[in-house]
Amino acid sequence: MTQLMNWTDDRVEQLKNLWTEGLSASQIARALGGVTRNAVIGKVHRLGLAGRASPSRSERPRLPMAPKVSMRTHVPPAPIVEEDPLTFDDGSHATVLTINDRMCRWPIGDPSADEFHFCGRSPKGGSPYCEAHARKAYQPQQQRRDKGRMAG
Ligand SMILES: [Zn+2]
Repeated sequence: MTQLMNWTDDRVEQLKNLWTEGLSASQIARALGGVTRNAVIGKVHRLGLAGRASPSRSERPRLPMAPKVSMRTHVPPAPIVEEDPLTFDDGSHATVLTINDRMCRWPIGDPSADEFHFCGRSPKGGSPYCEAHARKAYQPQQQRRDKGRMAG
């Protein structure tokens, strides 16, 4: 037979005091004697004192903590803004005939169709593509390898 703990007013008072002083449930159990940590926790809950250790969701104080930056945090890439392909004065676009090294070689349209052309905008850095298309071209899952920021 287990003997039921008797929460006399005295003991409850003691429990309240110890709890508000910041003792843990097991420390209080030891201090009171004859109770388990679980019994203390149960009593604390029934007395409505539990708020000390874990504030209720609604009124949890906002701690001035620096945001924790996890290495696993996935930062979505900035959206690729594709600009309109280069248009020549006569309204045509860069084609196999007019494309050159200083034009983005991103293919636009169906290569077998007449209207097939290239982006033709100024390439970015050493890439054969303009900025938007370079990002599209080099977008594959390799991104995680790019850990540090390149200066300059
Ligand atoms: Zn382009």
